[in-house]
Order: sequence, then C-alpha cells, then structure tokens
Amino acid sequence: MLHNSARAIDMSLHLHSQTDPRRHEQDGPLIISGGDGIYVRDDAGNRYIEGMAGLWTASLGFNDQRLAAAAAAQFAKLANYHTFNHRSNEPCIDLIEQLAAVSPIPDCRIFLANSGSEANDSMIKLAWYYQAARGKPGKRRIISRNGAFHGSTVMGAVLSGLPHMHRSFGMNTDDILYAGKPHFYSEGREGESEEAFADRLIAELERMILVAGPDTIAAMIAEPVMGAGGVIVPPQGYFPKLRKLLDKHDILLLADEVVCGFGRTGNWFGSQTFDFKPDMFSVAKGLSSGYMPIAAVVVSDALYQSIADEGHRNGVFGHGFTYSGHPVASAVAAEALRIYHEIDVVGRARALGAQMLAALRNALADHPMVGEVRGVGLLAGVELVADRRTKQGFPAEARVGAQVERACRQRGIILRNMGDVLALCPPYIIEPDQIDELVRALFLAIEDTRESLS
Ligand code: PLP
Repeated sequence: MLHNSARAIDMSLHLHSQTDPRRHEQDGPLIISGGDGIYVRDDAGNRYIEGMAGLWTASLGFNDQRLAAAAAAQFAKLANYHTFNHRSNEPCIDLIEQLAAVSPIPDCRIFLANSGSEANDSMIKLAWYYQAARGKPGKRRIISRNGAFHGSTVMGAVLSGLPHMHRSFGMNTDDILYAGKPHFYSEGREGESEEAFADRLIAELERMILVAGPDTIAAMIAEPVMGAGGVIVPPQGYFPKLRKLLDKHDILLLADEVVCGFGRTGNWFGSQTFDFKPDMFSVAKGLSSGYMPIAAVVVSDALYQSIADEGHRNGVFGHGFTYSGHPVASAVAAEALRIYHEIDVVGRARALGAQMLAALRNALADHPMVGEVRGVGLLAGVELVADRRTKQGFPAEARVGAQVERACRQRGIILRNMGDVLALCPPYIIEPDQIDELVRALFLAIEDTRESLS
C-alpha cells in the first residue's frame, strides 16, 4: 500500500475527471498500481479483472510488452516531433497507412489528434470548413442525440446529450439539435415494433430538420453504439434509414467510433456492424489500446478535396495540434494495429462477445433487478430497474448502480456504472473461463446489493 500521505495528497490536491469532488475528499481514490493482462492490481495488492478495459480503452490488456517495446524504441530514436508546416515522421506514416487499410471509407484522408474530444471537435470544424468551401457557410447547426457522449471539450460537451455534461457550465447549445435516443427498451411505445420505433425516430428527426431548415444544418454526429449513455444498441434498420434521410437534406453523417472502433462491435468499425457509410469518423481509445493519447479523424476523399481547395485558398489549413502525429504515440498505435490483425480482434470480439452476452442473459435476464441485458460484439450493458414490469428505475439518490459497482470490486472485478447501467467492455485478450468468472462475479454483486436493499 502506498504511504497514507499519497492518498491524502490525492484527496487534497486532485480535482478528478467525472468524479463527485466532495465524495472524493471523504472516500479517497482507488489507486491502481499495476497491470497484468486483463488484471489490474491496487496499491493494497487486491487483483481485479478489468471488465471495462479501463475506460473502453485497453484492448490488449494492461502491460502488453510489444507496445512497451515500440514506445521505448521510438523514445530512444525520436521522442518528439510535430506535423505542422509539411513535417512528418516515420511512425506517423506507418500508422496512417495501416489505418487507411482498414478504413470503411476506402478513399480517405486522415487527420491526427490526441483524444476523442479533440477528434470530435475536429470533425465539426472540418464539417464547417467543408460547408464554407462549397459556398454554404450558413450550414452551421449540428444534430446530436439525447444520451450521446462525445467528449469534454466545449464542443464535445455541447454535443453530448447528457444533462450532467451541461449543468452549471452555462453551455451554449443554441446551434445543436438533439434527436431522440435510439433505445427501444426505454423509448419504444407499448405495442410498437423495433422497426416501427426506428421509423418513428427518423420521422421525428425529419420534422426537426424541416423546422430548423436543412440549409442551416451542417452535420449529424452519432456513436454507432452509445457508450457512456448506457451501451445503447440502435434498433434494427436505424442507421441505413438515418443515412438516407441525411442525404435527402444534404447533411453530413459523422460517426464517433471512439468506443466502437477496432473490433468492439464485431467488425473493425461500428458503421460496418450497423450498415452505414459515414462521411467522416473519429477514433481514439482502442487506436493505441489506450496506451498513448492519440486519436484520428478519417475523412472521405470527396470532403477532403473541398477542404484542401479551401485550405489552399486560405494559404493554410488553420487547424491542428502540437501533438498531432506524435512519433511515440503513433509508433504505439501502429504496433497495436499490427497486433489486432495478428490476434484477429474481430473474430475474438464475435466469439467471446457471443459467449459473454449468452452468459449475461443466462445469469441475469430473469433477475428481479434487471430490466434489460443488451450488447453487440464484446460490449454489453446490464440495466437495473426497481420494477421489471413497468421498467421503473430506482430513485437516483439510492445510487443502486454505484452500490453494484462497489460490490463488483469486492468480488474482484471492475466494471463501470453509468447511473444504473453496468457496462462490460473487457480487453480482447480475455479468455472464455475469465468471461464466466466476470459474469458470475457481476451476478453475485447484484445479489449482494439486492440483499443490502431488502
Ligand atoms: N466519444 C466517445 C464515444 C467517448 O466514449 C469518449 C470518451 O469516453 C469521447 C468521445 C471522448 O474521448 P476523450 O476522453 O479521449 O476526449
């Protein structure tokens, strides 16, 4: 265990991301000291299966030695350089070549950034730049969705359709239109089929577009599966219909693949699983297995051509970050992509995901505290409810999801609760018996919580 003062320092100095500050002052941090494959260890020596791969990031677990070696080698060779003003570096070129090879936009250009938020901000700026380039600068508004999470920068937060991301920040959401959350379980109506629900969402969105005026709307951004919004798998047929509607009104479709990219949904990208072609997409997290902060935006050639002409007219494309194409981050990401091919992440996500979802359904689908078990690929969510018949949730102040999350840790697994939804997103290197262990521990943690509530 770290000396007590380490905890005290964290409690007195650290303003944590997405954490209740006052609770942190009381409870202190969970200090993670080491990683071993799918396991992490805290400073007291407790070992956990990391069932969320950190923050949907560590696709290859927590101490992959090839990634460590790639970083070390690049640190020793060239630890820093930039990509402004025509500069490039070899790892960055290696990475974009590999990314283009798996891109579902075959003819593409790649912009590099450092986080999912930066990549999403960049997609919006690229959409505006493109619209200006084609003589439509009035197309400014962006469509997002209730329940979406797109990051924590000003634009990322504004795009996010989650109230806690806006509350007390005085966010200006005037130019954002929030479409309905595509969650059949919570938003579908009595007697409505999944397909009819998708049709209704599209019809509602079209009304929204017509009221705002298609000429005022640049783009729509969407996660193929909403992650932080509660692992929301879209209804059957939703994305192809959405793509058609946006084409009709000359609105770009930007896919946020920050969680879904690199195999998570059982294909390289979520857009392939849900059968749509985006105009651009963002990736981060899994791009480097979360080992280095790196992100990218992949843009269709059609958009790129207009953007390049506009950048040329302006004398420069006035966008980019000091660490875009950072050589060490790029070397690690390039190595991660090589490993993804070698271990067949797509095949693993399909096979292990099917096992995980079946095990979750088997253990929990009829549980009195579980409303829905959902998922796709190696990604799943378990929604807790107070009443299965009415789908009534627990009161927020009861913090039932947080109680289950704590009970999970006591049983040796780490999951993430988003309100009363528990998310599972394990590293691809998890083995079948470890999936069984993970699901069994979650079941027991829910049972522990049920006992403590009764
Ligand atoms: N988009 C999605 C779908 C995410 O889940 C996240 C982070 O969780 C982001 C964007 C923001 O990424 P970052 O925290 O790297 O800025």
